[in-house]
Amino acid sequence: MRLLFLGIGFWVQAQPPKLVIGIVVDQMRADYLRRFVGPKSRGLGRLLQEGIVYWNCHYPYFPTYTGPGHASLYTGATPAYHGIVANDWWERALGRTWYCVEDTTVHPVGTDSPKGKRSPRTLLATTLADELRYACRFRNKTLGIALKDRSAILPIGRSGTLALWFDPQKGMWITSSYYRDSLPAWVVRFNAQRYPDSLLRVPWTLAKGHACSDESPYEGTLPTETSPTFPHQPKDYTALLYTPAGNWLTLELARHAIQAESLGRGPCPDFLSISLSSPDLVGHLFGTESCEIEDLYRKLDKDLADFLAYLSRRFKPGEVVLFLTADHGAAPTPEVLAQQGFSAGRYPEKELRARAEAFLRTTLSLPETTEVFAAFLNQNFYFSRRLSPGQRREAALRLKEWLLEQPNVLAAYTFAELAGPGSSTYTFSRVQAGYLPARSGDVVVIYAPGWIEGDYPTGTTHGSIWTYDTHVPLVWWGLLPWSRAVYQPVRITQVVPTLAFWLGVPLPSAATDAPLPEVLDAAFSP
Ligand SMILES: [Zn+2]
Repeated sequence: MRLLFLGIGFWVQAQPPKLVIGIVVDQMRADYLRRFVGPKSRGLGRLLQEGIVYWNCHYPYFPTYTGPGHASLYTGATPAYHGIVANDWWERALGRTWYCVEDTTVHPVGTDSPKGKRSPRTLLATTLADELRYACRFRNKTLGIALKDRSAILPIGRSGTLALWFDPQKGMWITSSYYRDSLPAWVVRFNAQRYPDSLLRVPWTLAKGHACSDESPYEGTLPTETSPTFPHQPKDYTALLYTPAGNWLTLELARHAIQAESLGRGPCPDFLSISLSSPDLVGHLFGTESCEIEDLYRKLDKDLADFLAYLSRRFKPGEVVLFLTADHGAAPTPEVLAQQGFSAGRYPEKELRARAEAFLRTTLSLPETTEVFAAFLNQNFYFSRRLSPGQRREAALRLKEWLLEQPNVLAAYTFAELAGPGSSTYTFSRVQAGYLPARSGDVVVIYAPGWIEGDYPTGTTHGSIWTYDTHVPLVWWGLLPWSRAVYQPVRITQVVPTLAFWLGVPLPSAATDAPLPEVLDAAFSP
């Protein structure tokens, strides 16, 4: 809450911001702020000029994926406490993989696709949005918008008013019966405009006046394309998401949401979470060095500029606070590094699992027919429940010793270690912060820096504890004349405590981290 000094020894509380907007740029590395922001930028560049910029913000846990990233940012806690330990984990009781926002008890709204069977019911801690709702006795609105369902749903927690995500089969924005039984009229109208059809008619071309090397054997191709070079012509809605058009479509829906839901005009602060998923899809497919990622950010900058200009027109100074960050970074394409002599590569995970299984079978004298692993997901080995508890304990110790002898494996930890008191080493503390015994594996393996998980030959990924995955931008922008650079290391879990103190609402239930003093100083200064 902003405090104003009025005369002698007399403080009153001014109105807090009426609308909080969080923008996550999925997979945005911190160095992109330097790489892609030019002198004429009115999007990211405007945020840098008018905002408080934390240049050294990190995700403090393993694994750095989209589901855990959004949940950690908005709960102010790590996966060990909010429960979103991965995008997909092995659900031991069911004997199958569980998607983080899967919910078989709800039905799709706006579609008949199973993509509508989603909710935040696996989330164990409250988010800032939940606390805003609670503090206002549920009279305010909290909305989540993203092409990806998990990125729309997790930020607004379990009391969210409405999450909207995209059904790429139909080219429509959808929700689930967790939120409502039918789409709001404004979303029906938005869908009826058929923006995705218009966007599909325009090829993705490299912006004029920009040249870059577009031929690389390490880039993947769009579905239905055979070459990774410009121009790209997406042929269906799924392919459209792998282009800058996905960002435009998301921000356009966000603008309609602000207008139609009268966000920022209610009795207490409203909350809007926007997550831009296309930068992640383009990063995975083409890699962090590609022309495509460069051009996507150039076009995103223009879309953000329009969005900020819209906010400036609609709201008075002090009415909106906005922050922009990412849910994780991304590894440089390993082959690009390896060519220059760096230690980097793609870890052959299928082969690792097969060799680990053969080793344990021999060491523990298990018959050929006995299943050893139920799953190997997210660098987590889950033992088959056909092994007895004693066999699993023995297997965990032997597997750890064996893993530590493998090339480019840096660490391995067992269930017993991770569920115990822990230690303060960089690797252990981060793995433990992302470990929930009921959902995580029996043994976790950590690869050396530069080594990414995966058996595929192109593009890149994220998930590790190394800085290329943990280091993200964090910029605060509040329609106020702030500009400040902070280089001290900070954690993503400091974002929501800061907002809770600013807005005068309770801390989210597991948000035990410290607030960011520079933001509160600016917010509370007269
Ligand atoms: Zn992500």
